[in-house]
Amino acid sequence: MENKKVLKPNGGYPLHTFEDIENIYSTYITSKEDKDKIREAYDFIIEKHKGQLRKSGEPYYHHLVEVAYILATLTCGPKTIAAGFLHDVVEDTDVTIEDIKKRWGEEVASIVDSLTKIQRLKLSKINSEEFEAEDHRKIFLGMAKDIRVILIKLADRLHNMRTLEALSPERQIALSEETMDVFVPIAHRLGLDVIKSEMEDLCLKYLQPQRYEEITKLLSKKAKTMGRSLEILKKKLADILFQHNIPFDISARVKSIYSIYRKMYIKGHPFDEIYDILALRIITDTEIQCYEILGLIHKSYKPVPGRFKDYIAMPKANMYQSLHTTVVGGDGNFYEVQIRTQEMDKVAETGIAAHWAYKEGNGYNSQKEQQEIENKLHWFRDFVSMSNSDDHDTAKEYMDNLTHDIFDANVYIFTPKGKVVELPSGSTPVDFAYHIHTRIGDTCSGALVNGVMVPLNTVLKTGDLVEIKTNKNQEGPSEGWLDFVKSSAAKSAIRKYVAKKNAELIREEKVSKGKQSCVDAFHDRGIEEEEMTNMLSDQKLLDNFGFDNLDDLYIGVTNRKPVPSALIEYLHIKRPVSVPTGGKIKTKSGDNCPVYCRGVGKIAIALSNCCTPLPGDDIVGYVTKGKGIAVHRKNCPNVANEKERLVEVLWRDDIEFATYPVDILIEASDRNNLVVDIMSVLTGAKVTLNSLHAKLTNNGMVDITATLLVSDAKRLNDVFNILRSVTGVYTISRIIH
Ligand code: MN
Repeated sequence: MENKKVLKPNGGYPLHTFEDIENIYSTYITSKEDKDKIREAYDFIIEKHKGQLRKSGEPYYHHLVEVAYILATLTCGPKTIAAGFLHDVVEDTDVTIEDIKKRWGEEVASIVDSLTKIQRLKLSKINSEEFEAEDHRKIFLGMAKDIRVILIKLADRLHNMRTLEALSPERQIALSEETMDVFVPIAHRLGLDVIKSEMEDLCLKYLQPQRYEEITKLLSKKAKTMGRSLEILKKKLADILFQHNIPFDISARVKSIYSIYRKMYIKGHPFDEIYDILALRIITDTEIQCYEILGLIHKSYKPVPGRFKDYIAMPKANMYQSLHTTVVGGDGNFYEVQIRTQEMDKVAETGIAAHWAYKEGNGYNSQKEQQEIENKLHWFRDFVSMSNSDDHDTAKEYMDNLTHDIFDANVYIFTPKGKVVELPSGSTPVDFAYHIHTRIGDTCSGALVNGVMVPLNTVLKTGDLVEIKTNKNQEGPSEGWLDFVKSSAAKSAIRKYVAKKNAELIREEKVSKGKQSCVDAFHDRGIEEEEMTNMLSDQKLLDNFGFDNLDDLYIGVTNRKPVPSALIEYLHIKRPVSVPTGGKIKTKSGDNCPVYCRGVGKIAIALSNCCTPLPGDDIVGYVTKGKGIAVHRKNCPNVANEKERLVEVLWRDDIEFATYPVDILIEASDRNNLVVDIMSVLTGAKVTLNSLHAKLTNNGMVDITATLLVSDAKRLNDVFNILRSVTGVYTISRIIH
């Protein structure tokens, strides 16, 4: 496509020379050998890309020089800068990776190789979401191997965005969207704020040209009206700090166009209500001095409530640290002031690169460096481990996980030692445990939040102090945790464990569980285990239910196909069903049963002991073979599939002062005195407790089963509410056997 516009060279940005780059890296690279390698790369690409032009008509090497320049401003090492010069040479000329390896060694060759592969994806051509996600995943994979690949890719993209004017409008939009979706989040998470901000502004320029124009105008107007008052405030603050002998450097900064756009059009704040458009930044020497300066400012200027943020105590995920406050200036306007140390400022501007900053001498080791960064940025660590495993269902899920972690707001949690841990919002103690270590997550049995034992699904808030209790004998994480964990690290660790365990345990466990259900049901009919086993081993019975052997039958029972009562019915067992005892009435039959059935005379009627109906419950009668009517709750699964044998039954209203046994399950977090507290609450509520049994489950909870004696369903509901007030208790339910 012919471009009619008159293009400014290098997109209107200053063009740099090799000497400009050399001036920067010479401040931190002193080895002659290293410097020679950089120069050699420059000479090489001038030679190899000779005659090649960019879309704008400029020599191609301009792009390579600008990329290397950006890398030098990030204090990248010699290999990174050399690879920056060389990043397009394999793709665009006849040079091979082998050639690079011979001249610059293994590391530079591997970096250039990754960049070449990413380049070949040409992902913007692909439309379907699935495909794009898969491509983005490949880009991430390519970059995750070596942080230096990310830095070069970001510098490359930044320069391409600066010179986007030379491309067709379609390409401008496609590249801007991709930059926004893929590269801005990465720059943000790595704390490369200068790169992120510039990319955002450039994307906005092409994606929302009118808004971009509008904000630019508003900004220059604002700078004119507020510029002077800002200068005054700056001078006054400088005086105060000078008087108190605190070292400082103070400067004004303007908010980026994109962040103003976000506030105006995404968050809906009018321009005049954005207080930090012009801000002052004070750089000092030590952390303590930051707080001292804050105190001095607040003493002289009224702080705006709710605008103070302490990112020193609670750093952002990308390691950003600073104090932010907004004060009312002498002119009545609001001014944001940012206070931080030089080190913090370096991190704020270049994030990861500040840590990555090239180190001279023998101590330098790229693997160690990569490791260090992975340790600092848990996001990056997750990302690397996710990239390494190939068991995600689809590329889409991978992207979802990644964007989820990148974009979701975070909470900041304290460890018992006072360290701050950053987790996605909605995270629970289990997420925290997995964040600390997979082993801690797997053996996590309970959690104290701010000193109080809480259920493991408790949602954590910023500022919570969390202590994890582990139990080495614990079997491992519970599948149920997947319902509430938020971080992808926790999710994938639990899934992995559960999948492994399931395969091992399923059969064995199901057999014994199914068997136990049968033993209980037969026991109620007065048949003990041995006799039952004989009955059920009968080949005719097994054939009838479609099983080859007894174990398979038991497995069927765990899936309720068949239910034990169907076996009992098949066997024509006529021995009496035992009925609940306890309380003041006998429920055996007739007059004493609180339930009656209209229109039938003196028929035996009894409350079933699988679902223990209480007066007030919705009930139904089941006509048994020869033993009268068994009363079940309507939602009891044991009668769910029955139709013909059901009859309407009603609660009598002439029985008073009676109580009935009911089995309940209390799920709670384990803590000292839990059972004692539950018992004393019940005693206080004058509830008779027939039995109580507590069992530690494998997710750090306690299952307490209890048989209570209560008069009716309403009363039971009251008791439930009382029990819910006991610390640690989080669900209570009636048991159906
Ligand atoms: Mn390039």
